[in-house]
Amino acid sequence: MGFRLYNTFSKQVEDFVPIEEGKVALYSCGPTVYSHPHIGNFRSFLMPDLLKRFLEFKGYDVTHVMNITDVGHLLEDADEGADKLEEAARKAKKEPLEIAEIYIDSFNAASEMLNMKPADEYPRATGHIDDMIAMIETLIEKGHAYVVAHNVYYDVTTFKNYGKLSGNTLDELNSGARVEVNAEKRNPQDFALWKHDPKHIQQWESPWGMGFPGWHIECSAMSTKYLGEHFDFHTGGEDNIFPHHECEIAQSEGVSGKKWVNYWMHARFLLFDGEKMSKSKGNLYTIQELIEKGFKKNAIRYALISSHYRQNYNFTFDGLKAAEQAIEKINRCLFTLAEATKGDEGSIRDEVKEIIEKGIGGFDEALCDDLNISKSLAAVFDFIKEANKLSDVSGTEAKAMIGAIEKIDSVLGVLESDSGEEIPAEIMALAEQRKEAKLAKDWAKADTLRDEITAKGFAIEDKPGHEYRIIQKDA
Ligand code: AMP
Ligand code: ZN
Repeated sequence: MGFRLYNTFSKQVEDFVPIEEGKVALYSCGPTVYSHPHIGNFRSFLMPDLLKRFLEFKGYDVTHVMNITDVGHLLEDADEGADKLEEAARKAKKEPLEIAEIYIDSFNAASEMLNMKPADEYPRATGHIDDMIAMIETLIEKGHAYVVAHNVYYDVTTFKNYGKLSGNTLDELNSGARVEVNAEKRNPQDFALWKHDPKHIQQWESPWGMGFPGWHIECSAMSTKYLGEHFDFHTGGEDNIFPHHECEIAQSEGVSGKKWVNYWMHARFLLFDGEKMSKSKGNLYTIQELIEKGFKKNAIRYALISSHYRQNYNFTFDGLKAAEQAIEKINRCLFTLAEATKGDEGSIRDEVKEIIEKGIGGFDEALCDDLNISKSLAAVFDFIKEANKLSDVSGTEAKAMIGAIEKIDSVLGVLESDSGEEIPAEIMALAEQRKEAKLAKDWAKADTLRDEITAKGFAIEDKPGHEYRIIQKDA
């Protein structure tokens, strides 16, 4: 089954064809590290996580790069105004880089809590200034950029496809009500590649004097450095479409003279009480805050991925509770199946094979349709319902069904994240004693220990090489 996705660039659902067979190169706009990321930010970051996990499920080898913006992102995403990091630094009476460290740690901790698969690279803007300068020099040489009083601007009229991604063509923008006036610019829509501002704290030497890079050039330079001049996917939140991604295309294609990104994917906003969750409105929740309220990490992840990325997601506490219940349902089934693995080995009945094929097949087919998560979850719960109905499940059947749930969870990532650390030490100790008993071939003792563990509400699923997994009945 081939993967199809909605491409923001073509505004159509397209078949996915990788540039290099079996491989995928994916770039995601990452956080601007000036405050704790909120669940809205993570809705946008979890979209590429789901995409990456699904492409891996389909057998692709995915290289994922997510940048960290630690300079140059100005308030209102515009050319004027305070740098978000420097503003935060001034308020906290710290250095911008100290601010970056604090919020990179916060982002990493929250990413881990949400069981996001780490990207292969997390390039930081401040570590790639030379790459940005080199790119700006090429844009000047090619006539796409010009220097005025130590500032460098991109001349949007030199790039004929400007506006293709967002629909904000120059005609469209010129007829708009609000046109920024800056006497230095040839055209009001020209944007800064390099900015000179003596008040800015973070400054670097450049051929145009001391200054700092514009936010858009950061992503063009870092994505090219790690993924080359032509790659498969670029993702972000819907507010990144314009001006950020529109300008990135003008820069990258201005330099290479050829197509840059094949597929653009954008996540719609997470809303709270009908409004976009945002730092500026202050109507936000961080992952940590929700955990402090007693919600589980995997339920937060489930809630954030369980609605289609191209629709707004209205965040509610009831939604989080429903996510907890959904995970409990899967866990209860896993628990019963894990119990059944201790039975006779036996064969797999046709009816069980069918349930597995329908479950995995339905899950796969739905995600192939532009990551239709609701439909894919419906297939998962049909599978659970059918599995729960089965009686006399053999050990082999139970293992096969657990295998199917684990395969599904390699994409959803909601079952593993809470295991291990949440299993009480007492149960872990019993499980270790059982492993030792098995190694000593003391089967009677191993069985007694297993019964003891079960009586306490935990099931053990044995894995090859004497490894095991513990499943909590009411996790
Ligand atoms: P920032 O750290 O402000 O650069 O934002 C990081 C990412 O979060 C960007 O891709 C934004 O598009 C995205 N984002 C911000 N607010 C929301 C929201 N309420 N829902 C979904 N994505 C968001
Ligand atoms: Zn970006």
